Amino acid sequence: MTGRRVALKVDCDTLEGTREGVPRLLEMFAARGIRATFFFTLGPDRSGVAVKRVFTRKGFLRKMIRSRAPTLYGWRTMLYGTLLPAPMIGERCEDAMRAAGKAGHETGVHGWDHVGWHDRLDRMTAAEVAQEYGRAHAEYLRIFGVLARSSAAPGWNANALSLAAEEERSLLHTSDTRCGAPFFPKAGERLFHTLEIPTTLPTLDETLAWDNLRTDEDQRSFFRAAVRGIEVHTIHTEVEGRLKAGLFARILDDWRADGVGFVLLSQLAHEALAHRDDIPQREIARVRLPGRGGHVTTGWPDLAAG
Ligand SMILES: [Zn+2]
Repeated sequence: MTGRRVALKVDCDTLEGTREGVPRLLEMFAARGIRATFFFTLGPDRSGVAVKRVFTRKGFLRKMIRSRAPTLYGWRTMLYGTLLPAPMIGERCEDAMRAAGKAGHETGVHGWDHVGWHDRLDRMTAAEVAQEYGRAHAEYLRIFGVLARSSAAPGWNANALSLAAEEERSLLHTSDTRCGAPFFPKAGERLFHTLEIPTTLPTLDETLAWDNLRTDEDQRSFFRAAVRGIEVHTIHTEVEGRLKAGLFARILDDWRADGVGFVLLSQLAHEALAHRDDIPQREIARVRLPGRGGHVTTGWPDLAAG
């Protein structure tokens, strides 16, 4: 197949994002005949804990101010897990999750405790990592009645232990990393055999913090030009499904006007695995990306460095 294509990877990180953002995105996609791949966080929403980062991380503070995160995410979300108890997203949002599946979209696991994962992954034991994924996959099975076939690490934070936990499950693919092309990850002197499909484009919640993209028109021009071949674009229900839904709809319409096609991550996985011997093996590393606080995992550190 030729032509430019985008796989939309929809990360659902919070209760509000899942309950309000998912239905809005389902409408937006239905109106345009687009299918996407949704990844659900299934355990506690402790987003409020992330507020503490405002005081400890320079990049996060800048992003909070520039992107007006409290407006983006909603004040309740900013307090979950601190002043308000952490609600369980799977229990509270199972209808919205099933609605995505019924509408013909693909679904997978985005983890159990999103905030806990990217704050603590590298201090977690193998048993703790396996327990996080185990809870998430069990809750997914309860809600959907089938095993998840794909998994996306919260905050694109993966390591040898998380890859090993994913390898235990019969996944078609993971989508844990940033930049590059589908590959088999190497970490801790081990080669993993679960296909990894990276997110290739910057995310809107990152580009909103870029100094050179000040207006919605700037954002549209950037994303319009950013699709060069086959791209994986991660969106967040909290952002594109809520306050930035209008801007995201225009980005989608720009792409459609340009003849960009939309594919599911599973289609990209099948296409790559049809030529399994050509799939590269890449050591994973951690990098920083412009507009994002903290580190992300990549198999292509040179590309990620820009
Ligand atoms: Zn996420």
